[in-house]
Amino acid sequence: LADRLESAWKKLRGQDKISEANIKEALREVRRALLEADANLQVVKEFVSEVEKKALGAEVIAGVRPDQQFIKIVHDELVEVMGEANVPLAHADTAPTIVLMAGLQGTGKTTASAKLALHLRKLERSCMLVATDVYRPAAIDQLLALGQQINIPVFEMGSDADPVEIARQGVERARAEGVDTVIIDTAGRLQIDQDMMAELARIKETVQPNETLLVVDAMTGQEAATLTRTFHDQIGITGAILTKMDGDSRGGAALSVRQISGQPIKFIGVGEKVEALQPFYPDRMASRILGMGDVLTLVEKAQEEVDLADAEKMQEKILTAKFDFTDFLKQMRLLKNMGSLGGLLKMIPGMGKISGEQLEQGEAQLKRAESMINSMTMEERRDPDLLSGSPSRRRRVARGSGYTESDVGKLVSDFQRMRSMMQQMGQGNFPGMPGMGMP
Ligand code: GDP
Ligand code: MG
Repeated sequence: LADRLESAWKKLRGQDKISEANIKEALREVRRALLEADANLQVVKEFVSEVEKKALGAEVIAGVRPDQQFIKIVHDELVEVMGEANVPLAHADTAPTIVLMAGLQGTGKTTASAKLALHLRKLERSCMLVATDVYRPAAIDQLLALGQQINIPVFEMGSDADPVEIARQGVERARAEGVDTVIIDTAGRLQIDQDMMAELARIKETVQPNETLLVVDAMTGQEAATLTRTFHDQIGITGAILTKMDGDSRGGAALSVRQISGQPIKFIGVGEKVEALQPFYPDRMASRILGMGDVLTLVEKAQEEVDLADAEKMQEKILTAKFDFTDFLKQMRLLKNMGSLGGLLKMIPGMGKISGEQLEQGEAQLKRAESMINSMTMEERRDPDLLSGSPSRRRRVARGSGYTESDVGKLVSDFQRMRSMMQQMGQGNFPGMPGMGMP
């Protein structure tokens, strides 16, 4: 599959820009890749048309090949659809936080309940599990056994009690005992069924959970879309847990869940053991859906190219005096990504003579500069002159960063000196970094 994608991209490579004609085949491959990863057809259609729009509208970046740019657009769009960042579990202002687990039978609700409890306890959040699956006697025992295994209390009332009443009393108990989070495991059927939905709705109505998590088996593939729609329409979910990601599923279900419900996937289950739960990270899932390994490297390479082109823009900025503290911070992070300052300087001819002590000093000064910039407002970062004109602003930055007002003043004046020097040199090379000048 990665091969096919690559061949489609190779064809794009010869072109000098992305156009409607040369993008067609690449889009078709993306579509096929997503369907093979078990994403839902409708979801894929929407996704592909969004990618097409973005690709055609994309500004041509000098020095970046169209195929690289295209890969990056696909990858970024996947990440965007899946939510950009990990969304942690809700935490109620007044305990207990109530988490309701929903989903079909066999998807891993009971296992996920225990996994979640263990995960939360590692974050110093105490937990209680509530067993409301009264339809299969073994289900209560299963939760009891898991609770015992990880030493988390399980509230149960046997299999004759009403699930809604069990949930209500379970939450009461958790509140009385000052438990931080109560996780309610529920029953599921093999198929979506009205009785199950009605019962779940009543439990939700009664306990008013902070989170209603849909547990979805990643192996369900295309079905995940219908499942999500039904649960979201009838119950209302706040997030999902995608289980059995340790299997060979490519995770297309993740795309469907997010696109259809608009709610984030919060965790993935990666095995039968209670420890096998991980926070969900959209960028990792995007790489998995696109086919891992090769494609991931391609995306990284594409990313580097785009960064390089960005660096050219930076040079332009320097020459036109638009260079500000925001850019400076960016440059500094870039430096950090490339390894230590020392390692970098050693590669520059003639720089080998710098002593270790001088280097350490240099790095320490960069750190100082960074922490002062971090205490500046966005406005001040963009317009350093604001700081040179206002002692009270300098004082605030000094207080925030733990340095003195004159340290801040020196950073700003060094920066301004550097900026005007760079303009004069008109070459865009760094003669020196602000904050680096020895006193
Ligand atoms: P429930 O009916 O929704 O409560 O599902 P269970 O929690 O009882 O899990 C059903 C089966 O799936 C059990 O055999 C679990 O061990 C297994 N299971 C649950 N989560 C995972 C997972 O992330 N990976 C794997 N491989 N198996 C899982
Ligand atoms: Mg169960």
